[in-house]
Amino acid sequence: IAGVVAEDLGFMVYMVGGIVRDLLLGVPNYDIDLVVEGEGLVFARALAQRLGGRARVHERFQTAVVVLPDGFKIDVATARTEYYEFPAALPVVHRSSIREDLYRRDFTINTMAICLNPGRFGELIDYFGGRKDLKEGLIRILYNLSFVEDPTRILRAIRFEQRYKFQIEAETLRLARDAIDRRLLGKLSHKRILHELILILEEKDPLPALRRMDEIGVWEYVMPEVRLDSETWIMLRRVPRVLGWLAERWLNIGLRSWVVYLLVILQKLPDSAVEEIVHRYRFDRDVTEILLMGREVPGLAVEIEEIQSLSMSDLNKKLRKLSGEHIAFLLLCLNRPESWERVARYLELKQDVRVKVNGYDLKALGLREGPVYQKILSDLYDANLDGLVKTYDEEIELVK
Ligand code: ATP
Repeated sequence: IAGVVAEDLGFMVYMVGGIVRDLLLGVPNYDIDLVVEGEGLVFARALAQRLGGRARVHERFQTAVVVLPDGFKIDVATARTEYYEFPAALPVVHRSSIREDLYRRDFTINTMAICLNPGRFGELIDYFGGRKDLKEGLIRILYNLSFVEDPTRILRAIRFEQRYKFQIEAETLRLARDAIDRRLLGKLSHKRILHELILILEEKDPLPALRRMDEIGVWEYVMPEVRLDSETWIMLRRVPRVLGWLAERWLNIGLRSWVVYLLVILQKLPDSAVEEIVHRYRFDRDVTEILLMGREVPGLAVEIEEIQSLSMSDLNKKLRKLSGEHIAFLLLCLNRPESWERVARYLELKQDVRVKVNGYDLKALGLREGPVYQKILSDLYDANLDGLVKTYDEEIELVK
């Protein structure tokens, strides 16, 4: 359909980048990126109309997102060239052909495109040897100055290398090391470094990439304060298992794996260093709070392990303010299986427990509205957690 819409407008449209790479690798990828030779925004509006969706356009970048009625998104861009006015700057953008658009990209494996216009539908465009590198498992930049122009590509190279178990091609690796030696990563804004770090920490298994970052001297530009010692590695290695366990029980709704990794990575630092990192990277309020509050989690874990007699409502008092990421971190800090079981039981109970009595019931019992309502409802919640009451009638009895 995209091809026909473009054809009608006299444009060419291509599917590009990650999705083509993953299609050839047989790896699932649902991020559709389209590049238009012509006017991307005109195309995006026409495509949205044709598919009954809507187009959110960004005039300034000449890009758009077509949102389909079921929420599925398609990214659309106008073919463009970028050039860099000085190393590590953000690029200046111009309209151009698909070839130039592909040439500005990071690695050959990301430079392939598939034409969607009816006459050439399915044709693979591969100007820079992407298919061969994909077959050979190589991450290769397109030109020697690539890392100088944009040092975030060093982090991206590591991410793709470790994700696909590829290798950074020898000359590319030499240029990356050269850029690191010339301290080019130091020129990047913290915002850009953080963006790439988050992408790495969101990988299915980010550990090999972290190890590689450490090994080739990238880590010291990301968090020089943190030494990734063996104890931290051991805990990091357990993260996927804990996240998987939480996911199986539907307990990780909205849990951001990268925040869990950060909690583990930062745990040995003094408070002042964590505050400095939080300040440097300008995390949003929610993440900042989680990272700062995360300082208390290892202590909580010790308490839970030491005080075997904690009731479910005692646990609730200690844990109710914790985010999902904190809970994952807490589980990582627990060593004894019985402590883990207890927290697990609490989490499961918490999902099921509902207070049946409400404000109207309290009013009907003759209680005057006020802060006492909150107190009663919270006590009822605790009583439910501890199994002291189950039914509505039992709750009413307890209130009386
Ligand atoms: P993923 O599977 O992680 O989403 P992706 O290839 O889709 O991988 P994105 O980060 O979404 O990666 O980037 C989309 C495309 O934009 C990439 O295929 C890449 O070619 C290009 N790109 C992204 N960042 C850069 C960069 N810093 N320099 C050059 N090209 C880049």
